[in-house]
Amino acid sequence: MEKNNLFDLHCDTLGVLYRSGREGCEIKTQLDIEKCAKSFRAYSQVFAVYSPDRLSPSEAWDNFIYTRDKISSHKFPENVTPYLSIEGGKLLDGKYERLDTIKNSGVCILTLVWGGICCVGGAHGTDTGFTDFGRDVLRYCLENGIVPDVSHASDKMFRETAEICKKYSKPFIASHSCSRAIRKHTRNLTDDMFKSVAESGGIVGISLAPSHLSASGNADAGNVVRHIKHFLSLGYESAVALGCDYDGIETPPTGLESPERLAEFKTLLKANGISDATADGIFYNNARAFFETNNIKPINA
Ligand SMILES: [Zn+2]
Repeated sequence: MEKNNLFDLHCDTLGVLYRSGREGCEIKTQLDIEKCAKSFRAYSQVFAVYSPDRLSPSEAWDNFIYTRDKISSHKFPENVTPYLSIEGGKLLDGKYERLDTIKNSGVCILTLVWGGICCVGGAHGTDTGFTDFGRDVLRYCLENGIVPDVSHASDKMFRETAEICKKYSKPFIASHSCSRAIRKHTRNLTDDMFKSVAESGGIVGISLAPSHLSASGNADAGNVVRHIKHFLSLGYESAVALGCDYDGIETPPTGLESPERLAEFKTLLKANGISDATADGIFYNNARAFFETNNIKPINA
């Protein structure tokens, strides 16, 4: 069987791979880079540096520097294209000059916030938009080729991001979010939000977090299909991508326990009336086109 291509907009695997003091240990991860390299023909993966809640902003910054140094010297298989992102602006700690370090480290996506309220502004579930500093962060990103990511943002921050990006004629993305019409959750996008991302030229990665997929918190591959079909029905097919969040979720949906299972998932999409070309777009081509159009470079490029 011919191998698929995969472009995944989000995983938290770095936190498992490079956990301080755990180097060289056998750590079980959901996403095994070597296995993915064998399972897919071309494999592009955005690796997020996520700051656990227990870290203070300054510890989170140290963790970013540590992780950046680790991934910069990681030897990836030939067919793997790694990209670096930051999940949560908390680690900026209100220090504008850190943005230069981030940019020079090859970070191509900044997920503006993660949880609660930080120096950038409010996350989902809060009524807080950007702080003044946060607005400066967004402008810096738009002026310096870092793509703003509204997954985890409050609705207020989402709206402000959309407005500012429009003024700049720049796209923004939601790297790992599902449909709020299918599952009412503050982490998911309403139809208007999805359209707003798509109209900016951005893309939306479907998350595999069961809590985003279904109200019961239990999910299988069929739940993922429902979110994809809903987004496809909104008329912006080339904006639909995958942002699986392996190693960021406790239990992936049944049938999608690891990225290798995505090959079967593609068959399921087809069984649900999704064409080969559309499925190829979701798996790889849509994200590939977005990264090419916006001249987004992998780590060490
Ligand atoms: Zn996340």
